[in-house]
Amino acid sequence: MFKIGCHLSASKGYLDMAETCEKIGANTFQFFTRNPRGGKAKDIDQEDIEKFYEKAKKIGIDVILAHAPYTLNCASSDERIRDFAKQTMKDDLLRMEYTPNNLYNFHPGSHVGQGIDIGIKNIVEILNEVLTKEQTTTVLLETMAGKGSEIGRNFQELKQIIDGIELKEKIGVCLDTCHVNDAGYDIVNNLEGVLDEFDKIIGLDRLKAIHINDSKNEIGTHKDRHEKIGEGKIGIDAIERIINHPKLRELPFLLETPNELDGYEEEIKLLRKIYKN
Ligand code: FE
Ligand code: FE
Ligand code: ZN
Repeated sequence: MFKIGCHLSASKGYLDMAETCEKIGANTFQFFTRNPRGGKAKDIDQEDIEKFYEKAKKIGIDVILAHAPYTLNCASSDERIRDFAKQTMKDDLLRMEYTPNNLYNFHPGSHVGQGIDIGIKNIVEILNEVLTKEQTTTVLLETMAGKGSEIGRNFQELKQIIDGIELKEKIGVCLDTCHVNDAGYDIVNNLEGVLDEFDKIIGLDRLKAIHINDSKNEIGTHKDRHEKIGEGKIGIDAIERIINHPKLRELPFLLETPNELDGYEEEIKLLRKIYKN
């Protein structure tokens, strides 16, 4: 079954997000665990969760993707910044257990001048402290565009992080199509080659979700500016190949395109039309 959805506001809780999915034809969604700048998270409401599951069952939501605040920086040279990231992720992962067996995505971080190896060492250290054997959530490293000193701009850097993790079974990857394009991977003309490379370096079994975005910028520009589906440099033909690729088509696809709900509804309709059942 085609799992397609978009980023939604979590401000009214889980049931509200499921109801929005029903309205716009989605059967999965992404949401921020808290204010993107990393404030305190809302308390979990058990009744909201129960009602959410009723609705989710009815409309066929079987996986959801939480996104960590994008300001967390596990790679930072500043211990306070790393500690804040660690505490936030710990708390997020506890909260995720109210909706077990789902996905939690985060941006690996930026090394801000101290070098990739130290940045990666810092990320690994935090992951080894926050991951627990008991958790049912899979934590995803997002492929990044390589803006500034972002870590995760190529598959090798993600692999280097994964190599350092003790509980490897709790780790996966979320591939963002805008980011990998901007990072220099030719998913437009050579999707097969890019997926082969991903498989050789990381292993496609680690790939758990796709952020399906077009890009405002040319390949390799390291910009990270998302565009509406079909209106950017990736284009609708490449997006059609991505969502139908035998190695990708069963994954959840999440839109993070510059849209309001009606725009998302249109894009979901379009993607459903070009998805080969
Ligand atoms: Fe992201
Ligand atoms: Fe993304
Ligand atoms: Zn982005």
